[in-house]
Amino acid sequence: MTVLVVGGGISGLTAAYALGRAGIPTMLVEATDRLGGKVRTERVDGFLVESGPDSFISYRPAALELARELSLGDAIIGPTHPRTVWIRSRGRFVQLPEGMGLALPTRLGPFIATDMFSPLEKLRIGLDLVLPRDGLGRDVSVGAFLRRRLGGVLVDRLAGPLLGGVYGTPIDELSLDAVVPQLREAERRHRSLLLAGIASGRAAKVGGSGSPFVSLAGGMGQLSGALVEAIEESSGVEVRMKSTAVTLVGRGGGFDVRFANGELLRPEAVVLASPGPVTAGLLDEIAPAAAAHVRSITHSSTAVVSLGYRLDQFPKPPSGHGFLVAEGEPLAVDACTMSSLKWAGRAPDGTVLLRVFIGSRSPGVLAGSDAEIVALVERDLALAMGVHAAPILARVARWIGQMPNYTVGHLERVAGASAALAGLPNLAIAGAAFRGIGVPDCVAQGRAAAARVGEVLSGGVPGPAEAAEAVPA
Ligand SMILES: Cc1cc2nc3c(=O)[nH]c(=O)nc-3n(C[C@H](O)[C@H](O)[C@H](O)COP(=O)(O)OP(=O)(O)OC[C@H]3O[C@@H](n4cnc5c(N)ncnc54)[C@H](O)[C@@H]3O)c2cc1C
Repeated sequence: MTVLVVGGGISGLTAAYALGRAGIPTMLVEATDRLGGKVRTERVDGFLVESGPDSFISYRPAALELARELSLGDAIIGPTHPRTVWIRSRGRFVQLPEGMGLALPTRLGPFIATDMFSPLEKLRIGLDLVLPRDGLGRDVSVGAFLRRRLGGVLVDRLAGPLLGGVYGTPIDELSLDAVVPQLREAERRHRSLLLAGIASGRAAKVGGSGSPFVSLAGGMGQLSGALVEAIEESSGVEVRMKSTAVTLVGRGGGFDVRFANGELLRPEAVVLASPGPVTAGLLDEIAPAAAAHVRSITHSSTAVVSLGYRLDQFPKPPSGHGFLVAEGEPLAVDACTMSSLKWAGRAPDGTVLLRVFIGSRSPGVLAGSDAEIVALVERDLALAMGVHAAPILARVARWIGQMPNYTVGHLERVAGASAALAGLPNLAIAGAAFRGIGVPDCVAQGRAAAARVGEVLSGGVPGPAEAAEAVPA
């Protein structure tokens, strides 16, 4: 083996796959007895349960391209239509205005018509049309940026639930530059964010784009499964399960990697595709400055509760793709996706599969038992949707300390780690903690890490240590 890839999540699998395709002898080590990391799809009693991601965005093309490359083109599916998302705000459900992007409306009509905001609140939002540019170059929180331009109600009721949910970080801590740099660019070019949003809506219409989200007919596990198959077919890649890397030190031009079971491996190059805190620990001895930068990227927790119901258990049939919860609502849950209404093939006929996120608004609940978490979710669903019957399926997946927080200054921390690794060209880091938490960005990072070490092994010039596309989704 020439290259050691640590971590069998989507980032590490992609790196090992790319190295195998490049004909470089590689070993992938995974601490657990399962490959895929946060990508985890299971069939339970006819339900397709996703414990981690259930879809990915197509406008950052790495995952889509990989799926096609792995002959999964026919399995790519879009969500069912129409896309209706609800926001639980001030004790009732309000429909997300049509054409709402991640933070900005892209169509004026539905935004003016929505009863989510009072006329006075809409006036405050409209102040954006005349406010001058901020002009500050430094990173700020997405919340602070949007509050200044569009006011607090838009942040608390719309942008916060939309963005905070995706990134698992409160919007007032989330880095503008790392997460939505296009908002700063929009202000620079158009001054008004509302005008910029509407211009982007027009451009999308011209391009005829539909929903940006896609998934796979067999769930996201189809992507990691196809990667694993391709790796297994590649003669140059060996996979070792239940192998936990614990220390990494330099040895001449290569490395000594020690494992929890005492084993020692001596690769010429290493790709660390482990979760951020593990990567920091592995860098401690060989690159303490890089380790400090990586360690300063904090992680939070969440749980996904998958609940199956018979349709007749609901007082009225559920509709739409799901709901988000606005700031200040007396609910413990963060959001709910109506999985089987959003994606085909997720639940048997006559049943509904819900996927509920919990942990951001009420972190304490994650210390409870599965039964306690399910009970809390059931209480909220009874309150919000009137479903009082016990679910016919309940599954809890906890991700404790595993959600990287892209807080203000994130890009500086990543650049700091990269700079501190400049003297170790045959060591690359990749994964959700660095340049994008979404599956497409993890795929891109896995490929870039493989390219960096591959380049060095063939005597070329390496890319940056955490090389990837510029900005996360
Ligand atoms: C609940 C949830 C919902 C999400 N929803 C979406 C979504 O809808 N769309 C989307 O695009 N993204 C989504 N994401 C984000 C995305 O799934 C993750 O960011 C991505 O899968 C992370 O991949 P990774 O390979 O970087 O890390 P991981 O998947 O965490 O993989 C790291 C691997 O390293 C292994 N490991 C750890 N320590 C060691 C060690 N010492 N030695 C060897 N191996 C080790 C771990 O066991 C693991 O298998 C979601 C994430 C979560 C948790």
